[in-house]
Amino acid sequence: MRKVSRRTATRPEILYGGEVRVAKASLADHYRLDPQERARRRPPLSSKNWTSAEVRLALTEVFWSKCAYCETPLDYADDGYVSHHRPLSNAAGVPEQSSVASPDYYSWFAYEWENLFLSCVACNRAKRNLFPVRGPRAHLRSTWAEAEASEDALLINPCQVEPRKHMRFCPDGTVVGVDEVGNVTVNILDLNRSDLIRARARRFRECLAWLWQGRIDDERLAGFRSALSEEAPFCGAMRIGPASLS
Ligand SMILES: [Zn+2]
Repeated sequence: MRKVSRRTATRPEILYGGEVRVAKASLADHYRLDPQERARRRPPLSSKNWTSAEVRLALTEVFWSKCAYCETPLDYADDGYVSHHRPLSNAAGVPEQSSVASPDYYSWFAYEWENLFLSCVACNRAKRNLFPVRGPRAHLRSTWAEAEASEDALLINPCQVEPRKHMRFCPDGTVVGVDEVGNVTVNILDLNRSDLIRARARRFRECLAWLWQGRIDDERLAGFRSALSEEAPFCGAMRIGPASLS
């Protein structure tokens, strides 16, 4: 996992167009329903806007064609999901915290650019509707900025939070949380999947080989730098490494 800036891509126009305005109006009607009536209905959502080619392309640029969470390289055509960081409905905590879901959370962020992430199938499947917070959730239909400011989220948003504050990556390819946020994030996303451990361990060996094999010259240093560059697989894990927090 690595901190990512969304400024590398412009916000997709489609998320601010007429169709999304209509869809948001339907959602607003849904939230005006009596809570008991609302609980009997699914929120009206139109996925074609957030799964559009325009959104996928922008997310591919932002996340450098890699999963936002585990950094697995993705094929644009078929490997990646457009994932909602805050889930579309029934947001739930983790069992040790609270297993009571919040049915109203967070449909109103369905078309929010800041809530859309490029995710691999495995992370998306592991994340499900989990979005644990310490304390209360944001008020219904808050803005994204209000939710980010008021909620004490336990799942790292890599566009807002520096992952190195919460986790470290070991040369054997495993990842360890150093606090509750790190541990919850690792567990929710299942970041110690065997394929990830193998891939990260291989990258560690490759990166270290650039430095340890013989004299460090310009070519070797350039190779090492490129192994840590934004487009390199698992660059976040390599940059954070095992010791940045110790
Ligand atoms: Zn992933």
